[in-house]
Amino acid sequence: MKSLNPLLLALILSFIFSCKSAVKWEGQGPIQIIPTESKPIQIQEKKVFDLDKGVYFSNQFEGARLNDVTRINDTLVAITILPENEPINPSPWYAFKIWSESPQTFWVKFTYSEKGFHRYYPKISQDGYQYANADSVDFVLPIVAEGRPTEAYLIVRSSSDTLWIAAQDLVGTQHVTDWKADLLNLDFVERITIGKSTDGRDLEVLKIGSSDDQKMLMVISMQHPPEVPGYLAMKAFVETICEDSPEARKFRSTYNLYVMPQMNPDGVSNGHWRHNVGGIDLNRDWVNFNQPETKALSAFMEKKVAENGGKFIFAADFHATWEDIFYTINPDLEGNSPGLIPKLIKRSSKRIPGYDPNIRPTETNERSVTSNSYFFFVHGAESMTFEVGDNTPRELIRKKGEFTARELMRLLK
Ligand SMILES: [Zn+2]
Repeated sequence: MKSLNPLLLALILSFIFSCKSAVKWEGQGPIQIIPTESKPIQIQEKKVFDLDKGVYFSNQFEGARLNDVTRINDTLVAITILPENEPINPSPWYAFKIWSESPQTFWVKFTYSEKGFHRYYPKISQDGYQYANADSVDFVLPIVAEGRPTEAYLIVRSSSDTLWIAAQDLVGTQHVTDWKADLLNLDFVERITIGKSTDGRDLEVLKIGSSDDQKMLMVISMQHPPEVPGYLAMKAFVETICEDSPEARKFRSTYNLYVMPQMNPDGVSNGHWRHNVGGIDLNRDWVNFNQPETKALSAFMEKKVAENGGKFIFAADFHATWEDIFYTINPDLEGNSPGLIPKLIKRSSKRIPGYDPNIRPTETNERSVTSNSYFFFVHGAESMTFEVGDNTPRELIRKKGEFTARELMRLLK
């Protein structure tokens, strides 16, 4: 699980700094548009799979992904995990439950669609809420000569107590709702419904702060459903801004932070690999705005600016990928607080001993189809895509989120 893909390593090593030309953020060149009109998705059949010998698998819960289960023999059960549609970026999410009438031990073989491969180290939970990595002696990822292993094996010890097995800690929409409910107990936090998803879920933004909206910040996460580590970093960031400290109180009297913790609630709920139920990668729809989620958030931000004449100073979009990366705007382009992002990354990273951040500024000066680019080129917000590694330890994720918030409060005094 810890080994680095040689291809990815080569890509990082071959990283070239973007050309240095002084360009303001207004009036950028043509945008490369990617089609984002809705496409069909394959609906996952929700059911209990009866595997004989009193063993059951189920995908009947929110966030589940389990497309088929077959018993191969007494000690081996094969599962199939498929994406919502294709082509799709490879983030093969899985989540399922297992129980048995009597205690049993058997192997689960993970298999994927033709182009799929195993990516996420299995997490196990006894209660569906607290997850821990499967024991390394119970998990086998075959070594392959080329590419990535297309299958993986996990020893499962089942009993009448349900086991949850998932690609990451299962942060369903209920988890996010509970977290928002906690924050809403604070008198400076407000909930704003900005629209509805295709499946009819409320799209919600939290307003944090009591300023006059002249200086605003925007934070989003979970455009891509499996990217739970990014959500956890966002959560730590937001909780730090909400602290009852003189610094945080002062910050909230000058800046309002707007947070959309779950950009893709339908995708999360349906256990998608990456897309919303329109079958689209939302982080390619920040120019076209064909999907309800991106349309609602961009309309909300534009309305805030039009209503009050205020500005978005800072924006961050939290994701997860193979390892920790900051995707930033070319530092020569100046927004509403020039130099903020490079200083912020430098200062917050310095607080973690031995941590050398991987920073990748855009190589062009042109607007693109991602949220990061929308925040900067349309609003002038100094923005970044905050990518946390799939396997970054949870405690380090918390610290990264927290230190980023603390240093941001200092830099925006
Ligand atoms: Zn992502």
